Amino acid sequence: MPMAEDEKMPVDRRDFLRTAAGAAALVATAPVSNPALRGPQRGALSPVAAQQAPASGDPAISKMKERVALATRMLASEGIVGSSGHVSMRIPGTDHVLVGPSDVSRDVITPEDVVLVDLESRQLEGNRKRPDETEIHTGIYRARPDVMSIVHTHPIYSVVFSVIKKPILPVHMHGAIFAEGVPVFDSVGHINTRELGDGLAGALGHRRAVLIKMHGAAVVGPSLEEAFVAAFQLEENAQQQLLAEQAGVKVEPMTPADVARCMKQSWRPESIQKRWQYYVDKLSLKA
Ligand SMILES: [Zn+2]
Repeated sequence: MPMAEDEKMPVDRRDFLRTAAGAAALVATAPVSNPALRGPQRGALSPVAAQQAPASGDPAISKMKERVALATRMLASEGIVGSSGHVSMRIPGTDHVLVGPSDVSRDVITPEDVVLVDLESRQLEGNRKRPDETEIHTGIYRARPDVMSIVHTHPIYSVVFSVIKKPILPVHMHGAIFAEGVPVFDSVGHINTRELGDGLAGALGHRRAVLIKMHGAAVVGPSLEEAFVAAFQLEENAQQQLLAEQAGVKVEPMTPADVARCMKQSWRPESIQKRWQYYVDKLSLKA
């Protein structure tokens, strides 16, 4: 008789996921205590990391790996990533990037699965395999020094806009953060070469998100929490726009004044932390 999936999962991974969810829920309740919400965190790491030495053993790096894994599990739990998709963080002050692996189911990723790459997409550390699409991350990090975290998702509704060739408009108050537009990178398939990574970064430009045609999205931010929350808001806005357009009327986006008001009201550090915490708590209840 075949084993149930739960029985096949190594015991240590199951135990980790149970305890990690509870611990994350406790840690993340401190409001806006997360330094990631205060900017790029330069200087926050030990001299070891700043000198671009291997990242193993540095407590700050271990903490970053925990957050990358947690964010990935939360995205998977909500269906924003499926069997593929990944989260990354740039290690402040270095050319190194922590990224989720290609070969672990996203619902069960642990910090030990997170791998270290450089900006040339070479894997430096890790027990697992770097993503085939590491260039999504490294291409953008090379071009955007302000970006400290990237979420690569496969969002159902957002990707529809890359198929129907209509722009995503800010039609939900949380969609105000995309008022500058969400460009489409016109290449179907994996972003797995330097040329494609550079091309994707070029399509993104200075914006917050870019769609990859018939495939997915890359959402960026100055912190993990900001990129993570924005990834949800992109998909929610896209779903709302598609529903509105099905009503058969011309859909008008919010005005620039609306955008400014919504940003002020719902894109504050407290707002971002609140949404992050919501998903942390939700996942911890499932553990
Ligand atoms: Zn992908």
